[in-house]
Amino acid sequence: MNPTVVISSRGEDRLRGGHPWIYRADVVDVRANGGDVVQVRGPRGRTLGWALYSDRSQIALRVLKHGPSESDAAPVAETLIRNRIAAAIAFRESLAIDADAYRLVHGEADLLPSLVVDRYGDYLVVQTLSQGMDQLTPVVVSTLIDLLHPKGILARNDPRARVLEGLEQRVDVLAGTVPDTVTITELGLTYDVDLRKGQKTGLFLDQRENRTAAAAYARGRLLDCFSYHGGFALVLGRRCRETIAFDASEEAIARVKSNTARNGVAVDARVGNVFDELRGLERLGERFDTIVLDPPAFAKNKAAIANARAGYKEINLRALRLLNPGGTLVTCSCSYHVDEAAFAEIVYDASVDAHVDVTVVEKRMQGRDHPVLLGVPETYYLKCFILRKVG
Ligand code: SAH
Repeated sequence: MNPTVVISSRGEDRLRGGHPWIYRADVVDVRANGGDVVQVRGPRGRTLGWALYSDRSQIALRVLKHGPSESDAAPVAETLIRNRIAAAIAFRESLAIDADAYRLVHGEADLLPSLVVDRYGDYLVVQTLSQGMDQLTPVVVSTLIDLLHPKGILARNDPRARVLEGLEQRVDVLAGTVPDTVTITELGLTYDVDLRKGQKTGLFLDQRENRTAAAAYARGRLLDCFSYHGGFALVLGRRCRETIAFDASEEAIARVKSNTARNGVAVDARVGNVFDELRGLERLGERFDTIVLDPPAFAKNKAAIANARAGYKEINLRALRLLNPGGTLVTCSCSYHVDEAAFAEIVYDASVDAHVDVTVVEKRMQGRDHPVLLGVPETYYLKCFILRKVG
C-alpha cells in the first residue's frame, strides 16, 4: 500500500484550483510518515495526485503531480524529480544569461516544491526546505551530477523555514569539494563569493536583470543603499560620475571594496545604517541623480506588515527628497507579504509627502531564472520599480 493522505472537500477545491499547497486544517486522515511521497485522496476516496507530506509544517502537503497514477509512489517521484530538474536546467540554458551564477531550480515555479538549486560557476548550492524534499536529496544530487558534472555541491540548509519542518539547520558538502571562496562573473564583473556564509546562497542572484535595466538610466551621482557586495553600485557605477554605497554590515562593505578594486570601478563604500545616513545626507543638503533602495525583507511575516510599511515609506520619502529633478529612483521590496499593489501605494504615499511628481518608468520583478508560478502569489516576492522624479 502506498502512503496515503485524505484531504477535505475544501482541500480538494484548492487542489483543483491549481495551488500546490494543502494546509494541515484540510487534512482528514494520514496513513504516512513525515517526508513520505504520498497518494492524495479526496473525501470520497478518489486519488487526486501525489504530494510530499510533512508531519510538522502548517503546509502538510506539497503537490508533485495532479491526477491519478497507477504506479508506486517512490519510482514516480524519482522519475518526476529527474525530469523536472532537467527541464528547469534546460530553461535556464535557453535564457542566454550574462553570468555564470544563477538559479537553476526555483521550487514551486519549477514544479519542484521546496527545492532550490543555484549555480556558482563550477559549484552548485542546494536547499531542501521540506521533509519530503529533504528525503529526496540523493535523487537531486545524483541528477545534478549526471546533468552538470559540478566540482562540488553544497547544501545550504540553514534557512529558518527548515525549523518549521522540524529539520536541522546545517551546511554540508554533498558531493566533491567546495572551496571557501568561489569566483563568479555577472554582467562582465567578477565577484568572490562565500557559499557557506554569504546571504541567501551567496549572492542576490534575483537582481541581475534589474541591475541591467537600471543601468540604462544611471548617470551623475549615484547612491546605492543596502548594497551588500555592491551588485548595483558596480553595474550602475560604470556609468556614473561618483558612487556612494551604504550597508550596515562591515563584512559586506569589505566585499564592496575588494570587488570595486578588482573590477576597476570607483565606489565610496561606507558602513552605515541607511535610515540614519539618508537623514544625514538630507541635513547636509546633498543631492543625487540616481538612487537605489534594495533593503532586506522588512516584513518577514504578516504581523510585521505595519512596521514594514513605515520603513519602506521612510526610505522612499527620503530618497525622493535627495533626488535631483529628472533623477531616477530604483526601489525594491522583497517582502512577499507586501505585494506589488501595496508597495506601489507606499511609494505613492512617500511621493505625496515629499511633494514631488513621480512617473513609473519600469515595473519589474525577480529575474527570469526565478520564475513566478501563475496562481501562486507566494512565488512573486521581489518588486523593483524604476521611477523618475519629474519635478
Ligand atoms: N542590493 C544588494 C542586496 C541587498 S540585501 C545586491 O544587489 O546584491 C540587503 C542588505 O541590507 C544586506 O547586505 C544587509 O546587510 C543590509 N542592511 C540591512 N539593514 C540595513 C540598514 N538598516 N542599513 C544599511 N544596511 C542594511
